[in-house]
Amino acid sequence: MIGPETVAEPAALPRQVAVLIIGAGFAGLASAIKLAASGEQDFLCVDRGPEVGGTWRDNTYPGAACDVPSQLYSFSFALNPDWTRSFSTQPEIQDYLREVARDSGVTDRFRFGVEVLAASWDSECALWRVETSAGPVAANLLVSAAGALSEPKLPEVPGLEDFGAAVFHSARWDHGQSLAGKRVAVIGTGASAIQIVPAIAGQVAQLQVYQRTAPWVLPRHDREYRRLERSAMRRVPGLQRLLRNLVYLGREATVPMFIAAPKLASLVSRSATANINRAIADPVLREKVRPHFALGCKRVLISNDWYPALARDNVELITEPISHLTRDTIVTADSTAREVDVLIVATGFQATEQPIADLIKGRDGQTLGQAWSERGVQGYKGATVHGFPNLFFVVGPNTGLGHSSMVYMIESQVAYLVDAWRQMRRHGLATVEPLAAAEQAWNADLQRRMRRTVWSTGGCRSWYLDAHGRNVALWPRTTYKFRRLTSSFDLGAYRSTALADRPEPASIP
Ligand code: NAP
Repeated sequence: MIGPETVAEPAALPRQVAVLIIGAGFAGLASAIKLAASGEQDFLCVDRGPEVGGTWRDNTYPGAACDVPSQLYSFSFALNPDWTRSFSTQPEIQDYLREVARDSGVTDRFRFGVEVLAASWDSECALWRVETSAGPVAANLLVSAAGALSEPKLPEVPGLEDFGAAVFHSARWDHGQSLAGKRVAVIGTGASAIQIVPAIAGQVAQLQVYQRTAPWVLPRHDREYRRLERSAMRRVPGLQRLLRNLVYLGREATVPMFIAAPKLASLVSRSATANINRAIADPVLREKVRPHFALGCKRVLISNDWYPALARDNVELITEPISHLTRDTIVTADSTAREVDVLIVATGFQATEQPIADLIKGRDGQTLGQAWSERGVQGYKGATVHGFPNLFFVVGPNTGLGHSSMVYMIESQVAYLVDAWRQMRRHGLATVEPLAAAEQAWNADLQRRMRRTVWSTGGCRSWYLDAHGRNVALWPRTTYKFRRLTSSFDLGAYRSTALADRPEPASIP
């Protein structure tokens, strides 16, 4: 991994738990809190990092902030009247998560600095046998809340391995590395880069920004909350929930633009063009930043300072592809070599080919990674996978969003998982596994819906698509529909076995 390492104390683990959760970000924290609220106290949540937060703990780059309003990008069961602005910064979101964790009373069952190394399904005992860096744990239910944006993706650029200058990924920011007065390069112009570049442009001597695809960037309607507003949110019953619902409805109203009528996007794209024209006078630079695909095909970005940063004298936007790196230079396809002191790689995450899939071995001894390379990355309701009993995903296949809050989707998935466990206990079930037919039908319907969306027709290549061009990342309907479809666990779509058929706990090795 490029970037500073996280060192955490090893922690003692119980031998066996009812539910093992991997990951302590929004998804893992919500799973733990809701399992506890349902009456299940026998769970463990492990995370390889030093504390809760997941992606919000790891992404500490300058300028890191959320592009979904905090009123919605927060748990429905832990509203926060103290948000200082409409779109919160990373430190504020991380503080929020710490506070929710502290108040939840579940963190005694969290173990940090513990990495999952392998997980195998033991059919005879109907258990997951999980190897971790702190020893083995057995669990009836395994919940992967590891997140799709947790493993940095490095660009395939010859010479990166041996590059002599300092290099780090945006999600592994090296805070020990001063950028002041240095020649800095940023590869990428995605959601992370457009926040980093304006935040560092003023302190570096020279900033090279390597762009492969010009993104759509809309104005960011962000502002600080006044003291009176915050006080009203705290004191006026229902006010904050009303505000949250309004934000939610506003976001849901944009769904047709993505899934059914991409032409609607042309109205929005005018605001993006005005955003460019306001900040950039140079016609050559204007042309370089003009996107060449339909708005919405890739994540729509929001920023008021991205274009002004590119227009600065000490910033150069380079659209020539990178050919290779030498000891301390970046060489582009036109043979221009530019020297750099620090290289920041803002090239995203291994989102569709999640590395955790290679660690999980299912009923037939096949890893999830192997299963997915054969049939494509897919699951049933984004939560479960045929061949992998008692495995649940939170933020599984096709549950991502391009328009609204992932926290809403996470809460839907957690409700489904908690109801599954409740029903398993009520009916005395040892295992549940989605039927192959249910999984196939679910995915056939998803992929049929995908065909009309801007993600398929918009003329771009995004991280939403797998190697075969299938969109395995996004949910192609409203989030409300997803919530309805996952509001209760549909046992009828599952093959189950009874607890009575499992060996007595005493005989479990
Ligand atoms: P990203 O959206 O995947 O962007 C990666 C960037 O790197 C793209 O511009 C990509 O170009 C470029 N790139 C990749 N390989 C390259 C190469 N070899 N040469 C030149 N350029 C290369 O990654 P990200 O910006 O880290 O964001 C990932 C996701 O994180 C977002 O989509 C979003 O879901 C989330 N995020 C959210 C926020 C927030 O505010 N909530 C903030 C940051 C991130 P191409 O476009 O040509 O592929």
